[in-house]
Amino acid sequence: MPIADLSPDGYITHMNNPDMLGKYKIIGELGRGAMGVVYEAFDTLIERKVAIKTILKASVNPHDSDDTFSRFRCEARAAGRLSHAKIIGVYEYEENDEMAYIVMELVRGKELSDYLDQGRLISIRDGLRIVMQLLDALDYLHAHGIVHRDIKPANIMLTEDGQVKLADFGIAKIDAAEQTQVGVVLGTPTYMAPEQFMGHGVDLRADLYSAGVILYLVLTGERPFVGSVISIMHQAIHREAITPSELNQNVSEELDDVVRKAMAKRAEERFQSADEFLGALKIAACTLPESNRAEVRMRQADDMHTHEDTLELPGWINASGVWRDEDIAAWQTISHSHDPMDFTRYLTEFPDGGYAEQARLRIRSLEKATRWEAELRARQETLGLEERTETEVRNHFGLKREERALWVSRLAEIKNEAIKAQKQQAEKQKQQLLLQLQHARVLSDANAERVNRFARLVSDREKTSELERKMKMEQKRKLEEIARQRGLLRFNRESAEALEEAEALAKLQQERVEHAAHNEAIVVAKAQAERAERMRMETEKNAAIERQQANRKMLLIGIFLFLLMIGIVFGLFPPAS
Ligand code: ADP
Repeated sequence: MPIADLSPDGYITHMNNPDMLGKYKIIGELGRGAMGVVYEAFDTLIERKVAIKTILKASVNPHDSDDTFSRFRCEARAAGRLSHAKIIGVYEYEENDEMAYIVMELVRGKELSDYLDQGRLISIRDGLRIVMQLLDALDYLHAHGIVHRDIKPANIMLTEDGQVKLADFGIAKIDAAEQTQVGVVLGTPTYMAPEQFMGHGVDLRADLYSAGVILYLVLTGERPFVGSVISIMHQAIHREAITPSELNQNVSEELDDVVRKAMAKRAEERFQSADEFLGALKIAACTLPESNRAEVRMRQADDMHTHEDTLELPGWINASGVWRDEDIAAWQTISHSHDPMDFTRYLTEFPDGGYAEQARLRIRSLEKATRWEAELRARQETLGLEERTETEVRNHFGLKREERALWVSRLAEIKNEAIKAQKQQAEKQKQQLLLQLQHARVLSDANAERVNRFARLVSDREKTSELERKMKMEQKRKLEEIARQRGLLRFNRESAEALEEAEALAKLQQERVEHAAHNEAIVVAKAQAERAERMRMETEKNAAIERQQANRKMLLIGIFLFLLMIGIVFGLFPPAS
């Protein structure tokens, strides 16, 4: 019985869970991943429960299957070399006709992203414990020459007793061996380091950046950068995230510093090892008061229209696609089309568009599907032609009546067998072609759906961004208003002070003038007094002179009078001589 049923449109409508996979007895489904089902199973030889992650070959684009399976093998190889309590152990890798599967340690728990998606409360202490365990796992991973490259909450499983189990090495890079296509950037935008976006060489410091983003998330409940993929890229490369303590007052400055260093734009400015990061985090964690049970409510990813899925983006350098509004709008109208011409037109209009590579892929897969259809039709026609030719041969074959009857019946028998075989063969080929066609359509539609979802997210996010932009403008306007009022107040205060100063100065000058006038008056008064004194002395002197002159006059008059009297006396009474 086939594992998967396909609808006429080529969609996988139903999956039959196998009873056994090799020596593993399938117990049930644990979840579904991007490429297949994850089962809980029982290892009948070792007698232990395991998890089996499958990838259906039918669900893989035949063009990409080599790449996909090599990545799957790579995931198994990378994880199979490791043995660490905080990393999901990988036991085995197998491939059969229908699928490839990885047998691994069964983890009873949930992904960290489940907690975030439910908007759960996580205490800062628990959050720090998760990040510390993650760093412990990363330290081990890096020591084994493996860079995970897709550290995100969906790849961190938490057991029931709070232990971290790091998962998903699907894009892990082993040593220097480049496993992914040149120029293709793999990762999850929200958690990707700037150098990952830019398609530069990525090393263990990219994982430390992602761990820094998770630290930011558990401290604040917010993602440092949100928006469209383009906007996240831009912010991650050029902007600083809001400091965690501004979003949560329970976060200390020391924790702010650790986040800042972990999320530094330049890899050289980050922690250079998980161990160094862990050491700094442990010291900073001591700054939390013992009683601090502050909890952080995780913002749900859906509310944020944010980007939590691993994406393959065109390499920034090697495929410099540009997403513009018209570009995204044009893609939305054709993304479900089955006509290669639509994609050719897109390429003509947007040769450097963000979906250019996608368009080329769609053209190739649609052309291939068309070729398969034509081939199928041609085979059906050939079969009809062969049937007609046989009848003609039978009628014109020059044999005796009985012989002819015998030969005709024998020939008919042989031909019937041949036709039956041919029909079976053609039917088989037709089935195969139909299956391939359906696969191509599934992939084409799945791709279209994925790209459409992405475009919808982009446009939703743009709307949110517009709202945010308006709010920011409003906030800016208010701030400007406050600043203006403050300026006005300051101006008034300064004017009042200047007025006071001018008045004080005027008063001082007035006093100085008065003082000078006073001094002058004193000088004048002194001069007047001196002049008066001088005049008084002159007057006295004149008076003394006049008195002397008068005295002298009186004396002369006296003498004259005396002499006159003597003369008179002697005249009247001359001496008797
Ligand atoms: P993908 O990475 O391809 O999207 P995941 O590895 O996330 O797929 O697996 C899908 C689901 O399977 C997860 O949500 C998880 O619940 C479950 N799962 C994966 N690995 C294990 C495991 N080792 N033990 C228990 N459950 C697992």
